[in-house]
Amino acid sequence: TAKRSGDTAISFFDRKMESAVKERLQLSQALNHAIERHQLSLAMQPQVNKYQQLIGFEALLRWNHPELGEISPADFIPIAETTGAILSIGDWVLEKSCETLVRWATNSSSKHLKLSLNVSPIQFRRGDFVPRVEQLLKRTGANPKNLRFELTESLMVGDINFIVRQMNSLRQLGVSMSLDDFGTGYASLAYLTQLPLDELKIDRAFVQDLDQRGKGELLTETLISLGRSMNLAVIAEGVETDKQFERLQELGCEFFQGYLFGRPSVDAERYFND
Ligand code: C2E
Ligand code: MG
Ligand code: MG
Ligand code: MG
Repeated sequence: TAKRSGDTAISFFDRKMESAVKERLQLSQALNHAIERHQLSLAMQPQVNKYQQLIGFEALLRWNHPELGEISPADFIPIAETTGAILSIGDWVLEKSCETLVRWATNSSSKHLKLSLNVSPIQFRRGDFVPRVEQLLKRTGANPKNLRFELTESLMVGDINFIVRQMNSLRQLGVSMSLDDFGTGYASLAYLTQLPLDELKIDRAFVQDLDQRGKGELLTETLISLGRSMNLAVIAEGVETDKQFERLQELGCEFFQGYLFGRPSVDAERYFND
């Protein structure tokens, strides 16, 4: 009967909910130990200019759990943000990145390279974020000119003046600022001109839109022009095909990242000499 199938649907739903909650709890507990158990690593994905010359890398976090396997940052970063684990994870990413830059600085083929890292809004809104960065730069000896922070539009809600002050202080240290996944957030246009940015990073969705001519590429073209008119460097993420690469160049994009040029790799050095 209808009633019985309804009951079944509800209990099935409850079970699904229960297992989702359990899974989250299991992940969040495992995350608390991820650093000390050496389960985290940084994969480096190359960024290139129009001649396909290497200009830098984006550091992408990887979590390898002995039983659960490789867990995607898209799955565990949101959990880390709700539990607060993102603070120590963010510190770890920053420290590893600075150490990497110090190693690269000893080699003429890598000392000019920029390293971009993703900073969570939770981490960025920390009152002591700037002094932490400053201290870490001093302690490791990393050159802030090689360091870039990728921020997302989700940061630009709430006290925008505070965010702008944080960004300015970081730029005074020499670190540059990029707006990641540009075009996907809602705050973009309202705040864009107020933000002390160095780079716009066009979201992968707009790169995929280039596969259809016409309407699909209109927005992509607009985003690129917007960045250029503000004198920002414009980089496209998720470039997978020659066609996308060519079209992006025609539209005025100068820098590129995506599987076409290289996958994220724990061994960045393999990209140095080719
Ligand atoms: P994101 O910062 O927008 O990073 C780009 C994502 O696109 C990465 O996924 C990258 O592996 C993937 N990607 C790069 N090229 C291509 C391509 O050509 N095609 C396709 N289909 N995908 C491509 P990943 O590594 O899974 O990271 C997902 C998201 O997790 C990142 O998006 C970022 O928001 C977040 N994340 C990663 N590492 C960190 C971190 O250290 N801290 C924080 N707070 N977030 C991080
Ligand atoms: Mg990013
Ligand atoms: Mg991105
Ligand atoms: Mg993205």
